[in-house]
Amino acid sequence: MMMNRYDLKQRLTWLVKLRWGGILGVLVVTHVVRELAVMSFSLIPVYAILGAAALCNFVYSWRLKASNENLERLALAQITIDQLILAFAVYFSGGCDSPFIYFFIFHVVISGIILPWQYAFAFAGSAVLLPAVVLWLKHIGTLPHYGIFKNEPMLFVDTEVIASYGIAFVSTVLLTAYFVTYLSKRLHERNEEMLRLYTLSERLRSSIRLDEVITIIEDELRGVVGASSSFYMAINKERRVLSLTIDGQERHIPLIDKNSFTDALLRGVPAIVDRRLVSSDYELNVLDLLKTKRCMVFPVMAASIQPCYEYFHCSDTQCGAHKKNAEGKCWQLSETHCKGIILANYIDKLALCVSCELFTPIGLFILNLPQEYLPLTDANMDASMRLLDTAGLAVSNALLYEKTMQLSKTDGLTGLKNHREFKESLRSEVLRSKRFKRSVGLLLIDIDHFKNYNDANGHPQGDILLKKVAELIKDNFKDTDIVARYGGEEFAVLLLESVDKEQAVAVAERLKGMVDWYKFPKEQTQPNGKLTVSIGVSCFPDDGTTPEEILQAADEALYRAKKEGRNRVVAAAPPA
Ligand code: GH3
Ligand code: MG
Ligand code: MG
Repeated sequence: MMMNRYDLKQRLTWLVKLRWGGILGVLVVTHVVRELAVMSFSLIPVYAILGAAALCNFVYSWRLKASNENLERLALAQITIDQLILAFAVYFSGGCDSPFIYFFIFHVVISGIILPWQYAFAFAGSAVLLPAVVLWLKHIGTLPHYGIFKNEPMLFVDTEVIASYGIAFVSTVLLTAYFVTYLSKRLHERNEEMLRLYTLSERLRSSIRLDEVITIIEDELRGVVGASSSFYMAINKERRVLSLTIDGQERHIPLIDKNSFTDALLRGVPAIVDRRLVSSDYELNVLDLLKTKRCMVFPVMAASIQPCYEYFHCSDTQCGAHKKNAEGKCWQLSETHCKGIILANYIDKLALCVSCELFTPIGLFILNLPQEYLPLTDANMDASMRLLDTAGLAVSNALLYEKTMQLSKTDGLTGLKNHREFKESLRSEVLRSKRFKRSVGLLLIDIDHFKNYNDANGHPQGDILLKKVAELIKDNFKDTDIVARYGGEEFAVLLLESVDKEQAVAVAERLKGMVDWYKFPKEQTQPNGKLTVSIGVSCFPDDGTTPEEILQAADEALYRAKKEGRNRVVAAAPPA
């Protein structure tokens, strides 16, 4: 049972209050009923039993105040005492007095509210059984009668009375058990949902990294739906696909198609994909990936959770009244409207929507539904939708963070690492090389007469050339080397695989050769009719032991290359 201490204690405290009320109520009711019925037997046993119950209640509330521990055990003990009082009530009263009903109902209520539902029915069952046994033992004479009542209850002689009391008791107690358990279950569900949301937001606070955020949400969703496996598909707006990487392999589902995934995204509500009802190969592929017959598709919406059609109320002139849905929104899935424009077909509309700034979905969670899957209850559905609201916000934040991090590290024009990131890499690589006693090579590459190229062909063409040169450099180095745009038309490369100065110079010469060989657009405007580069080379630890010294050495080498006539590679002179 998921319940925190505080909540449990609150409930138990309320029960104590209710019991006090109950005891007083029963006192009044028994009195009035007896007066009205003019039953002349003494009420002493009734008062005695109620007194005992009141005493127990007092002890219970006192222990409750003093303790935060063992609350369940305390409640169980209290219910057991109730059972015993009940037995006494039956024994003294013959089983048909109001204290009897009071205790009967009350401990069922207690168990139903504070303990798992099995307890409610167990107590209801034993509450039926216990008085029956007491009555029967009295009936067959094993338990002696105490002649407290002036006229002995008819129960022992009249079978009809026994039967009618029996039916009344059993039905009352079982109905009570049922309702209390039902209400209590709803309460538990709510409580669990709140806890789940709370834990989710707590866990989400622990990370802003997209992959971690996705894993956290996926975990929680699996818990709600009872799914065994799942994955996340992100929307790639440029390529108009849903992408997913499984075992290092990228898979795509085109967005411009009508299927359960696009439906879920457009409607902003979950969908179920059932193997028997699939309409596209993509759906079959996803089911195959999950090795399942059924899966559930949960759309993740960015900060705004309203579906975009909510924004467009079309006038009658824009689209005929028959094209509108019940709320007067003109864009329905079966229709082909967007912002009042009638499109040729569904695929056109999807294409338009994906590129629209109001298209809020950012991805899909796909969950494997278990074999014994039952349709989700409304409560489950509500819970998962609320979870997704929180999730949407977290995923948008993580995406934004990732994008910001990416932007802060890369050069916007060439997509290479920027100056700051390069300096950071240089610093950490020099540190690492010191520790592992390795060498690092550094190339500083500067395009010759680039100002001339700009002047002759214009800045936009200069940008195109910069991108071309960046691509060429990137393609000529391994992924393990670090390539960056160091400044305007200067690039820097860190060679990390323990190269000495000679090897670094050879690599630089090879790059220079590539640039010589490559036909750049409009390069004939350059002084020699060909685009060329100058490269300065330095090496750790030969040319310095700090990042600054290595950089300084490469810069000086580059300066010398320029001075000696450009289009050449010059190695740094080792420090004197
Ligand atoms: P050198 O052979 O001595 O290196 O001569 P250079 O003309 O290449 O060198 P200089 O430093 O005189 O000029 C560099 C030019 O690069 C000046 C600047 O306008 C241009 N530049 C810097 N960043 C960009 C850019 O992002 N786009 C374009 N198109 N040009 C740029
Ligand atoms: Mg320069
Ligand atoms: Mg230059």
